[in-house]
Amino acid sequence: MKNVKSEIIAVGTELLLGQIANTNAQWLSERLALYGINVYNHTVVGDNLQRVEDAFSQAHDRSDIVIVTGGLGPTEDDLTREAFQRISHLELVEHPPSMKKIETFFAKQESVMTPNNRKQARVFKDAYVLNNQVGMAPGMIITHGSTTWIFLPGVPREMKQLVTNDVFPYLQKLIGNEEIIKSTVLKFIGIGESALEHELRDIIQHQSNPTIAPLAQDEGVVIRLTAKERSEEKVNDLLENMKQQILAKVGSHFYGVDNERLENQVISLLKKQNKRIAAAESLTGGMFTDKLITVEGASSVCRGGIVCYDTKVKQDVLDVSNAVIEKKGVVSAECALEMADHVRRKLDASIGISFTGVAGPDEVEGKPTGTVYIAIAQDAGDQTIEKFTFQGTRNAVRKRATLKGLEILFNYLK
Ligand code: ATP
Ligand code: MG
Repeated sequence: MKNVKSEIIAVGTELLLGQIANTNAQWLSERLALYGINVYNHTVVGDNLQRVEDAFSQAHDRSDIVIVTGGLGPTEDDLTREAFQRISHLELVEHPPSMKKIETFFAKQESVMTPNNRKQARVFKDAYVLNNQVGMAPGMIITHGSTTWIFLPGVPREMKQLVTNDVFPYLQKLIGNEEIIKSTVLKFIGIGESALEHELRDIIQHQSNPTIAPLAQDEGVVIRLTAKERSEEKVNDLLENMKQQILAKVGSHFYGVDNERLENQVISLLKKQNKRIAAAESLTGGMFTDKLITVEGASSVCRGGIVCYDTKVKQDVLDVSNAVIEKKGVVSAECALEMADHVRRKLDASIGISFTGVAGPDEVEGKPTGTVYIAIAQDAGDQTIEKFTFQGTRNAVRKRATLKGLEILFNYLK
């Protein structure tokens, strides 16, 4: 099948009310692209029989493949079957394996099965029934006229399981030898979007396959590469080749791909180098240590941290000298260096990192909001200190300082 037209219909009033986002359509679209199936429409329709029927009949006229999520459950407002029956006039029959599963479920729970639960086991005659391994309602694939209809439960976990195990293998056979589209995301830190685009202007201007899309995000800039080829191997080659071209220009800012995160990279570098980290955190209030501890296996390299928000805690717990505090202030390079060095000794770490600054909205010691010092101290007396001025609200400054700490540590270790 060439130039397949597909669309996705999500059924559910809660989507229209904004109570939940249509993540099902997003997830499906991203994967359909991988299989070279063009998605032309996303529709969201409320739990209303007439409106669902209208949406279905419009889709039937214009698409080769229609994927419907939601409305397969047992309640009154689950109307997907009824609406499709109205446009197809296909017969609904009970699917014995599904019925058995529902009965077993209620027996195990020792609860009474209300009659409406039988509804979930009803499938269209001659449908290809998809076994829902994580929920009750089975999915279905039905060819009606020249359109392939795919019905899936609304619960994302159930929908994803059916799509991965059954729907994609089915679609691949249906459409034959189509191209594969694959994406990868390259992640950068310490470079802005415009600087990155400038460095890569030649590559970006001449892009075709893969396509190159830079995007600024909270945690730095990312580039999404998307390539299209006949085989998985060829598509991987295209992506790898482009990645190497890009890294040749901006590789010094690169820290990972896809789901890799800066804190994970920091933890693995610490592990490789057999180093242990401790943090002294004033304005970040533990955010930095929290980030590190989100990583599984952080315990072997992360000693812990001291939140020394109050000046007296800097003095009493971290032994920051009175001379530094009186002459230079708590927001100073000298204070940051003592905090980093002392937390390293006190928590028996090889590297200490510290954060002191002005989160705002008020100035401290005449220093403006956003002023932040980050210091690193290592065993060998090896110390670095940097001063920053971050923009934004109090919590934006705290987050930026935390992220900058990860960046500095990453660059220091790599
Ligand atoms: P159930 O058997 O649970 O009733 P169903 O097939 O009838 O499943 P819905 O009742 O429409 O599906 O949705 C069940 C739940 O799944 C919703 O409450 C919502 O949390 C989630 N959900 C439904 N549609 C979507 C969607 N398009 N994107 C993300 N989540 C969704
Ligand atoms: Mg439901």
